[in-house]
Amino acid sequence: RRPQIASIFKIRSKVFNFVSNFFESRKFISINTPKITAGGVESGAEQFAIDYFGKEAFLTQSPQVYKQMFVVSGLERVYEIGEVFRAEKSHTTRHLTEFTGIDLEMGFIKDENDVMDVLEDLMKYILAEVKKNCKEELDVLNVKIEVPKKIPRITLEEARKLVEKKGKKIRENDDLDSEGEKLIGEIIKEKYDSDFVFITLYPWEKKPFYQMRSPENKKLTKSFDLVYKGVEICSGSQREHNYNVLKEQSKEKGIDIDQMSFYANIFKYGAPPHGGAGIGFDRLIQRMLNLDNVREAILLPRDPERLTP
Ligand code: ATP
Repeated sequence: RRPQIASIFKIRSKVFNFVSNFFESRKFISINTPKITAGGVESGAEQFAIDYFGKEAFLTQSPQVYKQMFVVSGLERVYEIGEVFRAEKSHTTRHLTEFTGIDLEMGFIKDENDVMDVLEDLMKYILAEVKKNCKEELDVLNVKIEVPKKIPRITLEEARKLVEKKGKKIRENDDLDSEGEKLIGEIIKEKYDSDFVFITLYPWEKKPFYQMRSPENKKLTKSFDLVYKGVEICSGSQREHNYNVLKEQSKEKGIDIDQMSFYANIFKYGAPPHGGAGIGFDRLIQRMLNLDNVREAILLPRDPERLTP
Protein backbone atom coordinates (compact mmCIF):
# COMPACT_ATOMS: atom_id res chain seq x y z
CA ARG A 1 0.00 0.00 0.00
CA ARG A 2 2.94 2.33 0.27
CA PRO A 3 3.14 4.30 -2.99
CA GLN A 4 6.96 4.11 -3.08
CA ILE A 5 6.97 0.33 -2.91
CA ALA A 6 4.09 -0.04 -5.35
CA SER A 7 5.86 2.28 -7.82
CA ILE A 8 8.89 0.00 -7.98
CA PHE A 9 6.73 -2.92 -9.06
CA LYS A 10 4.65 -0.91 -11.49
CA ILE A 11 7.86 0.16 -13.21
CA ARG A 12 9.24 -3.39 -13.06
CA SER A 13 6.10 -4.70 -14.75
CA LYS A 14 6.43 -2.16 -17.56
CA VAL A 15 10.13 -2.89 -18.05
CA PHE A 16 9.25 -6.58 -18.45
CA ASN A 17 7.10 -5.63 -21.44
CA PHE A 18 9.64 -3.19 -22.87
CA VAL A 19 12.23 -5.97 -22.90
CA SER A 20 9.90 -8.27 -24.87
CA ASN A 21 8.89 -5.48 -27.26
CA PHE A 22 12.50 -4.71 -27.97
CA PHE A 23 13.47 -8.31 -28.72
CA GLU A 24 10.39 -8.96 -30.81
CA SER A 25 11.13 -5.85 -32.89
CA ARG A 26 14.64 -7.19 -33.49
CA LYS A 27 13.32 -10.56 -34.68
CA PHE A 28 14.39 -12.52 -31.60
CA ILE A 29 12.24 -15.57 -30.80
CA SER A 30 11.03 -15.98 -27.23
CA ILE A 31 11.91 -19.39 -25.78
CA ASN A 32 11.03 -21.12 -22.51
CA THR A 33 13.59 -23.65 -21.39
CA PRO A 34 13.48 -26.23 -18.58
CA LYS A 35 14.33 -25.12 -15.08
CA ILE A 36 14.84 -28.71 -13.93
CA THR A 37 17.94 -30.10 -15.59
CA ALA A 38 20.47 -32.90 -15.46
CA GLY A 39 23.26 -30.35 -14.98
CA GLY A 40 24.71 -27.25 -16.60
CA VAL A 41 27.83 -26.56 -18.62
CA GLU A 42 29.39 -24.46 -15.88
CA SER A 43 30.89 -25.70 -12.65
CA GLY A 44 28.35 -27.62 -10.61
CA ALA A 45 29.19 -25.80 -7.39
CA GLU A 46 26.46 -23.22 -7.72
CA GLN A 47 23.60 -25.58 -8.49
CA PHE A 48 20.76 -26.62 -6.19
CA ALA A 49 20.49 -30.40 -6.30
CA ILE A 50 16.98 -31.85 -6.14
CA ASP A 51 15.60 -35.34 -5.81
CA TYR A 52 13.85 -36.07 -9.10
CA PHE A 53 11.95 -39.30 -8.52
CA GLY A 54 15.05 -40.88 -7.05
CA LYS A 55 17.43 -39.38 -9.63
CA GLU A 56 19.67 -36.40 -8.98
CA ALA A 57 18.64 -33.29 -10.88
CA PHE A 58 19.43 -29.59 -10.56
CA LEU A 59 17.64 -26.27 -10.73
CA THR A 60 19.03 -24.38 -13.69
CA GLN A 61 21.82 -21.87 -13.05
CA SER A 62 21.61 -20.53 -16.63
CA PRO A 63 19.79 -21.35 -19.88
CA GLN A 64 23.16 -21.27 -21.69
CA VAL A 65 23.02 -24.74 -23.23
CA TYR A 66 19.48 -24.32 -24.54
CA LYS A 67 20.05 -20.86 -25.97
CA GLN A 68 22.99 -22.18 -27.99
CA MET A 69 20.99 -25.24 -29.02
CA PHE A 70 18.18 -23.15 -30.50
CA VAL A 71 20.44 -20.65 -32.25
CA VAL A 72 22.31 -23.49 -33.94
CA SER A 73 19.08 -25.35 -34.70
CA GLY A 74 17.99 -22.46 -36.88
CA LEU A 75 15.95 -20.07 -34.73
CA GLU A 76 19.01 -17.85 -35.09
CA ARG A 77 18.12 -15.21 -32.46
CA VAL A 78 16.50 -16.20 -29.18
CA TYR A 79 15.71 -14.64 -25.82
CA GLU A 80 14.25 -15.83 -22.56
CA ILE A 81 13.02 -14.03 -19.50
CA GLY A 82 13.03 -16.67 -16.82
CA GLU A 83 14.04 -17.77 -13.37
CA VAL A 84 17.65 -18.63 -12.60
CA PHE A 85 18.82 -20.37 -9.43
CA ARG A 86 22.20 -19.98 -7.77
CA ALA A 87 23.22 -21.95 -4.70
CA GLU A 88 25.63 -19.25 -3.53
CA LYS A 89 25.70 -18.51 0.16
CA SER A 90 26.49 -14.88 -0.50
CA HIS A 91 25.11 -12.26 1.83
CA THR A 92 25.55 -9.21 -0.35
CA THR A 93 23.32 -6.40 -1.60
CA ARG A 94 23.45 -7.85 -5.15
CA HIS A 95 22.97 -11.60 -4.83
CA LEU A 96 19.76 -13.61 -4.64
CA THR A 97 19.45 -17.38 -4.76
CA GLU A 98 16.57 -17.10 -7.24
CA PHE A 99 16.51 -14.24 -9.71
CA THR A 100 15.00 -13.32 -13.04
CA GLY A 101 17.39 -13.52 -15.94
CA ILE A 102 17.03 -11.87 -19.32
CA ASP A 103 19.03 -14.09 -21.63
CA LEU A 104 19.76 -13.62 -25.29
CA GLU A 105 21.76 -15.47 -27.91
CA MET A 106 22.31 -14.59 -31.55
CA GLY A 107 23.82 -16.36 -34.53
CA PHE A 108 25.88 -15.19 -37.50
CA ILE A 109 27.65 -12.45 -35.59
CA LYS A 110 30.86 -10.78 -36.70
CA ASP A 111 32.17 -10.74 -33.15
CA GLU A 112 31.15 -9.93 -29.57
CA ASN A 113 30.67 -6.27 -30.50
CA ASP A 114 27.46 -7.25 -32.32
CA VAL A 115 26.08 -8.56 -29.00
CA MET A 116 27.18 -5.39 -27.19
CA ASP A 117 25.48 -3.30 -29.91
CA VAL A 118 22.17 -5.07 -29.23
CA LEU A 119 22.57 -4.64 -25.47
CA GLU A 120 23.39 -0.97 -25.89
CA ASP A 121 20.25 -0.46 -27.98
CA LEU A 122 18.23 -2.46 -25.43
CA MET A 123 19.38 -0.22 -22.55
CA LYS A 124 18.66 2.95 -24.54
CA TYR A 125 15.21 1.65 -25.45
CA ILE A 126 14.24 0.53 -21.93
CA LEU A 127 15.36 3.77 -20.30
CA ALA A 128 13.70 5.98 -22.93
CA GLU A 129 10.43 4.04 -22.49
CA VAL A 130 10.61 4.22 -18.68
CA LYS A 131 11.24 7.94 -18.87
CA LYS A 132 8.26 8.39 -21.20
CA ASN A 133 5.77 5.98 -19.63
CA CYS A 134 6.49 5.92 -15.90
CA LYS A 135 6.51 9.62 -15.02
CA GLU A 136 4.17 9.32 -12.04
CA GLU A 137 6.05 6.42 -10.46
CA LEU A 138 9.44 8.06 -11.06
CA ASP A 139 8.17 11.20 -9.31
CA VAL A 140 7.00 9.17 -6.31
CA LEU A 141 10.43 7.54 -6.13
CA ASN A 142 12.21 10.81 -6.87
CA VAL A 143 14.29 9.15 -9.59
CA LYS A 144 15.61 10.86 -12.71
CA ILE A 145 16.26 8.60 -15.68
CA GLU A 146 19.23 9.27 -17.92
CA VAL A 147 19.05 7.62 -21.32
CA PRO A 148 22.57 6.65 -22.41
CA LYS A 149 23.87 8.28 -25.57
CA LYS A 150 26.86 6.05 -26.15
CA ILE A 151 28.11 3.31 -23.82
CA PRO A 152 31.92 3.33 -23.59
CA ARG A 153 33.79 0.03 -24.07
CA ILE A 154 37.07 -0.42 -22.24
CA THR A 155 39.19 -3.50 -21.66
CA LEU A 156 39.57 -5.05 -18.21
CA GLU A 157 43.23 -4.08 -18.45
CA GLU A 158 42.28 -0.42 -18.98
CA ALA A 159 39.72 -0.61 -16.17
CA ARG A 160 42.36 -2.04 -13.86
CA LYS A 161 44.73 0.84 -14.65
CA LEU A 162 41.98 3.41 -14.07
CA VAL A 163 41.05 2.05 -10.66
CA GLU A 164 44.72 1.68 -9.73
CA LYS A 165 45.22 5.38 -10.37
CA LYS A 166 42.58 5.92 -7.67
CA GLY A 167 44.58 3.79 -5.26
CA LYS A 168 42.88 0.39 -5.62
CA LYS A 169 45.13 -2.52 -6.48
CA ILE A 170 43.71 -5.37 -8.60
CA ARG A 171 45.92 -8.41 -9.11
CA GLU A 172 46.70 -9.53 -12.64
CA ASN A 173 44.04 -11.93 -13.92
CA ASP A 174 41.62 -10.84 -11.21
CA ASP A 175 38.18 -9.51 -12.00
CA LEU A 176 37.04 -6.22 -10.49
CA ASP A 177 35.47 -6.90 -7.11
CA SER A 178 32.38 -4.99 -5.98
CA GLU A 179 34.51 -2.10 -4.71
CA GLY A 180 36.38 -2.02 -8.03
CA GLU A 181 33.09 -1.95 -9.97
CA LYS A 182 31.82 0.91 -7.84
CA LEU A 183 35.01 2.83 -8.44
CA ILE A 184 35.03 2.22 -12.20
CA GLY A 185 31.40 3.39 -12.27
CA GLU A 186 32.43 6.68 -10.70
CA ILE A 187 35.47 7.11 -12.96
CA ILE A 188 33.42 6.47 -16.12
CA LYS A 189 30.72 8.86 -14.99
CA GLU A 190 33.33 11.55 -14.53
CA LYS A 191 35.27 10.78 -17.72
CA TYR A 192 32.44 10.00 -20.19
CA ASP A 193 29.33 11.22 -18.36
CA SER A 194 27.91 7.69 -18.71
CA ASP A 195 26.09 5.53 -16.13
CA PHE A 196 27.05 2.44 -18.15
CA VAL A 197 30.33 0.91 -19.21
CA PHE A 198 31.22 -2.30 -21.05
CA ILE A 199 34.36 -3.94 -19.70
CA THR A 200 35.85 -6.35 -22.23
CA LEU A 201 38.46 -9.09 -22.71
CA TYR A 202 38.36 -11.08 -19.46
CA PRO A 203 41.08 -13.66 -18.79
CA TRP A 204 40.48 -17.21 -20.05
CA GLU A 205 41.58 -18.54 -16.68
CA LYS A 206 38.43 -17.13 -15.03
CA LYS A 207 35.88 -17.84 -17.76
CA PRO A 208 33.88 -20.95 -18.75
CA PHE A 209 35.21 -23.23 -21.52
CA TYR A 210 32.53 -22.29 -24.07
CA GLN A 211 33.74 -18.72 -24.47
CA MET A 212 35.81 -17.92 -27.53
CA ARG A 213 39.42 -16.98 -26.95
CA SER A 214 40.80 -13.82 -28.42
CA PRO A 215 42.82 -14.65 -31.55
CA GLU A 216 45.33 -11.94 -30.62
CA ASN A 217 45.92 -13.22 -27.12
CA LYS A 218 44.85 -16.74 -26.15
CA LYS A 219 44.97 -15.80 -22.48
CA LEU A 220 41.93 -13.56 -23.03
CA THR A 221 38.33 -14.26 -24.07
CA LYS A 222 35.97 -12.36 -26.34
CA SER A 223 33.86 -11.56 -23.30
CA PHE A 224 32.38 -8.52 -21.60
CA ASP A 225 30.48 -7.31 -18.56
CA LEU A 226 28.10 -4.39 -18.50
CA VAL A 227 28.38 -2.23 -15.38
CA TYR A 228 25.48 0.12 -14.55
CA LYS A 229 26.02 2.75 -11.86
CA GLY A 230 28.87 0.72 -10.40
CA VAL A 231 27.25 -2.74 -10.39
CA GLU A 232 27.62 -5.56 -12.93
CA ILE A 233 24.19 -6.14 -14.44
CA CYS A 234 25.09 -8.29 -17.42
CA SER A 235 27.80 -10.51 -18.80
CA GLY A 236 28.26 -12.08 -22.20
CA SER A 237 30.66 -13.23 -24.91
CA GLN A 238 31.18 -14.69 -28.31
CA ARG A 239 31.01 -18.48 -27.93
CA GLU A 240 33.39 -21.00 -29.41
CA HIS A 241 31.50 -22.75 -32.24
CA ASN A 242 34.17 -25.11 -33.55
CA TYR A 243 33.68 -28.58 -32.07
CA ASN A 244 37.39 -29.50 -32.03
CA VAL A 245 38.41 -26.25 -30.35
CA LEU A 246 35.56 -26.63 -27.83
CA LYS A 247 36.72 -30.13 -27.00
CA GLU A 248 40.27 -28.89 -26.40
CA GLN A 249 39.04 -25.96 -24.31
CA SER A 250 36.80 -28.13 -22.17
CA LYS A 251 39.69 -30.54 -21.59
CA GLU A 252 41.82 -27.66 -20.33
CA LYS A 253 39.09 -26.91 -17.78
CA GLY A 254 38.88 -30.56 -16.72
CA ILE A 255 35.54 -31.21 -18.44
CA ASP A 256 34.81 -33.81 -21.11
CA ILE A 257 32.15 -32.42 -23.43
CA ASP A 258 31.55 -35.84 -24.91
CA GLN A 259 30.12 -36.76 -21.49
CA MET A 260 27.49 -34.08 -22.21
CA SER A 261 26.66 -35.58 -25.57
CA PHE A 262 23.60 -33.41 -26.15
CA TYR A 263 25.84 -30.34 -25.83
CA ALA A 264 28.66 -31.76 -27.98
CA ASN A 265 26.12 -32.74 -30.67
CA ILE A 266 25.06 -29.13 -31.10
CA PHE A 267 28.48 -28.41 -32.61
CA LYS A 268 29.38 -31.68 -34.34
CA TYR A 269 27.60 -30.92 -37.60
CA GLY A 270 28.63 -27.28 -37.87
CA ALA A 271 27.47 -24.21 -35.97
CA PRO A 272 27.48 -20.54 -37.01
CA PRO A 273 29.51 -17.94 -35.13
CA HIS A 274 27.30 -16.85 -32.25
CA GLY A 275 27.27 -15.02 -28.97
CA GLY A 276 24.97 -13.85 -26.24
CA ALA A 277 24.56 -12.49 -22.77
CA GLY A 278 22.67 -12.77 -19.51
CA ILE A 279 21.22 -9.76 -17.74
CA GLY A 280 20.06 -9.76 -14.12
CA PHE A 281 16.57 -8.25 -14.32
CA ASP A 282 16.43 -7.54 -10.58
CA ARG A 283 19.81 -5.81 -10.63
CA LEU A 284 18.75 -3.75 -13.64
CA ILE A 285 15.69 -2.47 -11.74
CA GLN A 286 17.77 -1.94 -8.60
CA ARG A 287 20.33 0.25 -10.36
CA MET A 288 17.76 2.08 -12.48
CA LEU A 289 15.77 3.12 -9.40
CA ASN A 290 18.82 3.74 -7.18
CA LEU A 291 17.77 1.07 -4.66
CA ASP A 292 20.41 0.12 -2.12
CA ASN A 293 19.68 -3.59 -2.17
CA VAL A 294 18.60 -5.96 -4.94
CA ARG A 295 16.02 -7.39 -2.50
CA GLU A 296 14.08 -4.12 -2.83
CA ALA A 297 13.60 -4.76 -6.56
CA ILE A 298 11.88 -8.13 -6.16
CA LEU A 299 8.54 -8.88 -4.50
CA LEU A 300 9.50 -12.01 -2.58
CA PRO A 301 13.28 -12.30 -2.40
CA ARG A 302 15.02 -15.62 -1.92
CA ASP A 303 18.39 -15.54 -0.21
CA PRO A 304 20.30 -18.06 1.89
CA GLU A 305 18.15 -17.22 4.94
CA ARG A 306 14.76 -16.52 3.42
CA LEU A 307 12.27 -19.12 2.16
CA THR A 308 8.99 -17.48 3.16
CA PRO A 309 6.53 -15.99 2.35
P1 ATP B 1 28.59 -11.88 -9.86
O1 ATP B 1 30.03 -11.87 -10.31
O2 ATP B 1 28.06 -10.51 -9.54
O3 ATP B 1 28.31 -12.90 -8.80
P2 ATP B 1 28.12 -13.64 -12.08
O4 ATP B 1 29.42 -13.43 -12.78
O5 ATP B 1 27.92 -14.90 -11.31
O6 ATP B 1 27.77 -12.35 -11.14
P3 ATP B 1 26.62 -14.31 -14.44
O7 ATP B 1 26.67 -15.75 -14.13
O8 ATP B 1 27.45 -13.81 -15.54
O9 ATP B 1 26.95 -13.47 -13.14
O10 ATP B 1 25.11 -13.88 -14.63
C1 ATP B 1 24.65 -12.87 -15.51
C2 ATP B 1 23.95 -11.75 -14.75
O11 ATP B 1 22.97 -12.28 -13.87
C3 ATP B 1 24.87 -10.93 -13.83
O12 ATP B 1 25.49 -9.90 -14.55
C4 ATP B 1 23.87 -10.39 -12.82
O13 ATP B 1 23.20 -9.24 -13.31
C5 ATP B 1 22.87 -11.50 -12.70
N1 ATP B 1 23.16 -12.32 -11.51
C6 ATP B 1 24.10 -13.28 -11.38
N2 ATP B 1 24.07 -13.84 -10.17
C7 ATP B 1 23.06 -13.23 -9.50
C8 ATP B 1 22.52 -13.39 -8.20
N3 ATP B 1 22.98 -14.32 -7.36
N4 ATP B 1 21.48 -12.59 -7.83
C9 ATP B 1 20.97 -11.68 -8.68
N5 ATP B 1 21.44 -11.49 -9.94
C10 ATP B 1 22.47 -12.25 -10.35
